[in-house]
Amino acid sequence: MENQDQIKDGWFFETCPLWPGMGFSLEIEKILYHKKSRFQHIGVYQTRHHGKMLALDGIIQLTESDEFAYQEMLAHVPLFAHPRPEQVLVIGGGDGGILREICRHGSVKTIDFCEIDEEVIRVSKEFLPSLACGFDDPRIRVHIGDGHAFVLEKKKEYDVIIVDSSDPIGPGDVLFKKPFYEGLKAALKPGGIVATQGESIFLHQECVLRLAKITKELFIKQGYSCIMIPTYPGGNIGICLGSLGPDLNKPAEPVPDQIQDQLKYYTPEIHAASFVLPHFAKQMLARL
Ligand code: SAM
Repeated sequence: MENQDQIKDGWFFETCPLWPGMGFSLEIEKILYHKKSRFQHIGVYQTRHHGKMLALDGIIQLTESDEFAYQEMLAHVPLFAHPRPEQVLVIGGGDGGILREICRHGSVKTIDFCEIDEEVIRVSKEFLPSLACGFDDPRIRVHIGDGHAFVLEKKKEYDVIIVDSSDPIGPGDVLFKKPFYEGLKAALKPGGIVATQGESIFLHQECVLRLAKITKELFIKQGYSCIMIPTYPGGNIGICLGSLGPDLNKPAEPVPDQIQDQLKYYTPEIHAASFVLPHFAKQMLARL
């Protein structure tokens, strides 16, 4: 749980039991928001060099300087791997960045969005409009509640499900367990794809292996895609993917110029390359 002790001499210090023995700091100019919601502590900070930053329970969720890498990959890898995504579900992602990216896809007709903490949405709309602009699209239906409970009520409804959860500590923990993934599979239409926040291949190997094992057991195809991003622990994060049909490691159709021109990280080449893992990671996942 975050507190004033994490801000010292103009620096924000992030430490977490999930990546023991290391810390990450950003220089901040101003605390813009600092309050506990029903579920977690929410902090928004003006950093000196990385734009505004959102932290939940003291863990950095995004900075304006590099959030595009994560949002673009988590949204566009599954959406472009699917030949024609029409119905999409997003769980978590209260800042709106994933919604912003999904809305670039003209084939998408409806986007159900389930976030547990209404306050994250409200605070993002107030302080992070470049992400929360994602909420403006009329295709979005907002549901406030636990993503696991929401998924259990859905059967064969979605082409793509994206889980933009916080780490497996606090309210996000349930989203890293097998019963949730069983619910995700049941909520997918035939040929559907799930993509979930998959933590770091360097720092969270137990978690990555667990998610890879679950998706391997449940889905026809499974993959792990790596993203470079300076302000997540170790400078990287992954996406854990499961497919009921389409190949995951390439776009199903050419990426339209009209979408590509709006993006800063995603390209078809990066899509394919992100599934090529370092030798240790390849060996680790091959042992499953
Ligand atoms: N990718 C970012 C990261 O890990 O740094 C996560 C960004 S997004 C802000 C994470 C969101 O997941 C938060 O707004 C949090 O409230 C939401 N969340 C956590 N547990 C949830 C649950 N069980 N159901 C729905 N949303 C949840």
